[in-house]
Amino acid sequence: MGWYDIAIVGGGFSGVATIANIVRDAAKPIAIAVVSRDARGVFGPAYATPRDEHLLNVPAANMGLFADNPRHFYEWTQAQGITAAPGDYLPRRLYAQYLQSVLDAAQAAARDKGIRIGWFQGEAEDIEDHAEYLSVRSGGDGIDARVVVLAIGNALHKGDAGPAIDQPWKFDFKTLSPAQKKIALIGSGLTAADIIISILDTGWQGDITCYSGHAALPRAHLAGYDADKRVALPPDQYISQRLSGIMQALRREIKSGAREWHYIIDSLRPLTQDIWRSLSATDRERLVKKYFTLWNIHRHRYAPHIAARIDAAQAGGQLKMVKARVASAAQTPDGVALELATKDGVETAAGFDLVFRCTGVDYKTAHNPLLKNIIAKGLAKPPGNDYGIRASDNMLVYRDRPCAMYALGAPLFGALFETTAVPELRLQAKLISDSFLEDSIASKSRAIG
Ligand SMILES: Cc1cc2nc3c(=O)[nH]c(=O)nc-3n(C[C@H](O)[C@H](O)[C@H](O)COP(=O)(O)OP(=O)(O)OC[C@H]3O[C@@H](n4cnc5c(N)ncnc54)[C@H](O)[C@@H]3O)c2cc1C
Repeated sequence: MGWYDIAIVGGGFSGVATIANIVRDAAKPIAIAVVSRDARGVFGPAYATPRDEHLLNVPAANMGLFADNPRHFYEWTQAQGITAAPGDYLPRRLYAQYLQSVLDAAQAAARDKGIRIGWFQGEAEDIEDHAEYLSVRSGGDGIDARVVVLAIGNALHKGDAGPAIDQPWKFDFKTLSPAQKKIALIGSGLTAADIIISILDTGWQGDITCYSGHAALPRAHLAGYDADKRVALPPDQYISQRLSGIMQALRREIKSGAREWHYIIDSLRPLTQDIWRSLSATDRERLVKKYFTLWNIHRHRYAPHIAARIDAAQAGGQLKMVKARVASAAQTPDGVALELATKDGVETAAGFDLVFRCTGVDYKTAHNPLLKNIIAKGLAKPPGNDYGIRASDNMLVYRDRPCAMYALGAPLFGALFETTAVPELRLQAKLISDSFLEDSIASKSRAIG
């Protein structure tokens, strides 16, 4: 399958951002391969939804793909004649169009610069070090490159094969009928919010029950959010502290009432990776197991008008939140039956016409064959926990000259914690591009034109 200077595994946001930075900044012809499970133009689960009501959870003015221009996406909407304000939460479907336009522009610029981009659809199963090059193994073939970038992103939780709908964004909500009376959602995060809104949009009148261990929905963004109200939190109260001390400092800050909690949580963002790195292994595990949901619902919020509709559905009794983990789902003659683990023991809830799985992203290394394989052969190291791999400050995972491997995004969850949204990813893509281009100036390109 040829020889490339760099092979990028994954064609979602992180893959596209890496390509766009390299093409923009490269001063000489190089060859880039992309190996992605999805076809070119499918940008991962976040932006694959075809539905207008599924919105970005970050304002338009902060969704730009380039680290040196966070407004790039917003500027693109204006160039397209789309009516939008910088603080709007726009459809994710529109964001996929933006990514496509960035990719098309990169492809055109690449042609002008003599840069070759080869796109291969397939699963990267393993990576081998052949001393002079790394080989990305996919379906019996190898894509050989001096440098590999792992941009493999978000694996969604997979349940047991059962009657639950696994890709809820793809469901055709027009097929809901008045004869259907009961819908269950497994999970209560941003995906559940997407699905609740899609159901409400159809005018369907039946009952929606949302099951999760904590039964807490994401919080709403503040209407009229003013980014200038974020503050520089004192690092010494947050970095190199016990988790309990950090939680106390946060509570004090929020209780002081000087500003809404939204600003305090967002003010933590520049410190989050350093806080995480400075926590003991035990505190990291506690944070993931005990406080991750609490963090997520405050940190990853949805638009105020989405919150208002969901609140109204709850107040009107159409939407119920239930604290229970769904252990299994089975089709019965009377509909889908769920086995629930509650604090009082095991219970059954039956008679659902439809069940949607909204359980979000699975960071566990054990569930990712590619990460498992490269850790097993020493090409990557675990971060001291079960969630992915570790990387240096410039995203380097492995170096054995002349070969190198970088990673960005979700595979670094266990190492960085805050590493899945566009503001972090665009910075990581730029770091990788800079490091790769600096290195490739030093080494002679072996690209086949
Ligand atoms: C539903 C949802 C909504 C979101 N909304 C927002 C938002 O509004 N704003 C925001 O900033 N962030 C949002 N996020 C966070 C999201 O993580 C990032 O915005 C971004 O999409 C991550 O891109 P990625 O390329 O790192 O990962 P992904 O989008 O997951 O892309 C990874 C790609 O790699 C491919 N791949 C994976 N493993 C392999 C393999 N072994 N071989 C070959 N190919 C492989 C996948 O098929 C996929 O194409 C959202 C996430 C989700 C799930």
